[in-house]
Amino acid sequence: MLSLRSRSRQLWSVSKLALASSTHLRKVGDPKRSMSTAYPVVDHTYDAVVVGAGGAGLRAAIGLSEHGFNTACITKLFPTRSHTVAAQGGINAALGNMTEDDWRWHMYDTVKGSDWLGDQDSIQYMCREAPKAVIELENYGLPFSRTEQGKIYQRAFGGQSLNYGKGGQAYRCACAADRTGHALLHTLYGQALKHNTQFFVEYFALDLLMNDAGECQGVIALNLDDGSLHRFRAKSTVLATGGYGRAYFSATSAHTCTGDGNAMAARAGLPLEDLEFVQFHPTGIYGAGCLITEGSRGEGGILRNSEGERFMERYAPTAKDLASRDVVSRSMTMEIREGRGVGPLKDHIYLHLNHLPPEVLKERLPGISETAAIFAGVNVTKEPIPVLPTVHYNMGGIPTNTYGQVVHIKDGDPDAVVPGLFAAGEAACASVHGANRLGANSLLDIVVFGRACANKIAEIQKPGEPQKELPKNAGEKTVSWLNKLRYADGDLPTSKIRLDMQRVMQNNAAVFRTEETLKEGCQLINETWKTFERVKVQDRSLIWNSDLIETIELENLLINACITMHSAEARKESRGAHAREDYKTRDDKNWMKHTVGYWDNGKVRLDYRPVHMNTLDNEVESFPPKARVY
Ligand SMILES: Cc1cc2nc3c(=O)[nH]c(=O)nc-3n(C[C@H](O)[C@H](O)[C@H](O)COP(=O)(O)OP(=O)(O)OC[C@H]3O[C@@H](n4cnc5c(N)ncnc54)[C@H](O)[C@@H]3O)c2cc1C
Repeated sequence: MLSLRSRSRQLWSVSKLALASSTHLRKVGDPKRSMSTAYPVVDHTYDAVVVGAGGAGLRAAIGLSEHGFNTACITKLFPTRSHTVAAQGGINAALGNMTEDDWRWHMYDTVKGSDWLGDQDSIQYMCREAPKAVIELENYGLPFSRTEQGKIYQRAFGGQSLNYGKGGQAYRCACAADRTGHALLHTLYGQALKHNTQFFVEYFALDLLMNDAGECQGVIALNLDDGSLHRFRAKSTVLATGGYGRAYFSATSAHTCTGDGNAMAARAGLPLEDLEFVQFHPTGIYGAGCLITEGSRGEGGILRNSEGERFMERYAPTAKDLASRDVVSRSMTMEIREGRGVGPLKDHIYLHLNHLPPEVLKERLPGISETAAIFAGVNVTKEPIPVLPTVHYNMGGIPTNTYGQVVHIKDGDPDAVVPGLFAAGEAACASVHGANRLGANSLLDIVVFGRACANKIAEIQKPGEPQKELPKNAGEKTVSWLNKLRYADGDLPTSKIRLDMQRVMQNNAAVFRTEETLKEGCQLINETWKTFERVKVQDRSLIWNSDLIETIELENLLINACITMHSAEARKESRGAHAREDYKTRDDKNWMKHTVGYWDNGKVRLDYRPVHMNTLDNEVESFPPKARVY
């Protein structure tokens, strides 16, 4: 409970923060607790609210502010600490700086990479917008690496070809050495400040505020610093909360990637799409899980087994080490299973960069050279890096159309728009990555669809437009939930339940899957969810209560994990990152459809919606399905 003094202090500071909006105190109480324990709530009104300040959230916020909308950006992390900062390899766009290139070739590669589960209208939109998006970043001041002629340098990346797969390797990935995400995020943050976005930093969004008509009217958030609650009423809400890699034991993603936005949507009765497609990056550092960018293979790095063999030549004769990620991860796993892994336990693979000129390593791969030294004790100019496929990216998320509007199945319409709600970035499923994302297509996705959300909002809404009142009890359920967790007094620490979940996901929804592992996985993850009732939160305060926040994040992760496992168990085929040993081939007849998973009071319910095979217009024809070989 907050003391009167801290309340008045907080009111003062909050009203200062939210100068541009109406700010006043109300009480939203847990009816079961006395008034003295009711939580004060600060109300704000904005034209638009963006949740998340990674690349997707910042690009949406910049666009909204540019269009004249009074915009709030809520973020649990300081913006430049968002996971986007860790992106290494780069961002794809058919700029044609190294060879001739065409966005249609990029589109073909992306459709093929998605194993024909991607929506071709959205893929067309992303690839066609890509050159503009990258030039825009350049104009914003992003310090790209350069060619001798001063053009943006573009490196080779996995799954990228010229001339619809017939023209050999494409050089399409624009980069700032191997620190592209760092450069991108800092550039966007600077632009967002310039455009007067109102930041609410270290505010943790708890739930969407939905009304009875099924419209989204904003979010309710907790200020981590002083424990005050805030209702942000907004005509448009953009979820850009990133992925949920931390549902797994070994992941390249930050500890903050806990799928909060996904869980907020699921709690609001909205579906999550294609969660069974989890990308394993071939080269996480063995043991530590830190990423070694695919750009290292783009610059000439090679994977070798215990016999010193460049085994990718056998699995992908043309693309070799630059085949797409699912293919390389599976090949590495096969090598290890067949006894050709390296190290005393023969349980990993070597990535060699030591044959590359030291100048290339210094200029193009300085970040991973440092990472390899710190986390693997390896001098990359002399020794190979021990690597293992590691969870890296969530292809699935909150389903949206090409313009970032969240969609669900309603009255038989599989593309029904949820009024007022948008999503972009790794939290969303547009779906441009389908069953497998190509490297360097996510940084592209976040800027293209962040911007698309802002543009769509500008099309359907005017700055300062009047808004409906919030329902009287808006947020009450969330406050009761928060209060329950705050005083949770079971016998299991958050860390124990989290570890159980991460182990189940790592073991049972792995690179290769079978009926047996997935059935067992469903049972184990359901049981883990049940144990959450027994969680214990030790810290009862509201001032930077990381114990409470980690517990909320755990609940969010569990929702994502349960839907992932059940979606995977149901899908009886192999497609992209979902590789089943008992259903080895892709089954377009029965399974060329998106899974949508709902969270019904602790149980997963599945449904399906069709894949969009159509393109947006006649600038390109759609690519009919065929076998996917590299
Ligand atoms: C190590 C690594 C390297 C990568 N390299 C590349 C690459 O080279 N090229 C490429 O294309 N892709 C790469 N990716 C993938 C890509 O970086 C990410 O998919 C992308 O950056 C995600 O951006 P985002 O804006 O969706 O989310 P994030 O950058 O993860 O940001 C999420 C934001 O949401 C906020 N947030 C989350 N929950 C809440 C909440 N409850 N309340 C308030 N705020 C919240 C956070 O504060 C944060 O600001 C890489 C990923 C990793 C992990």
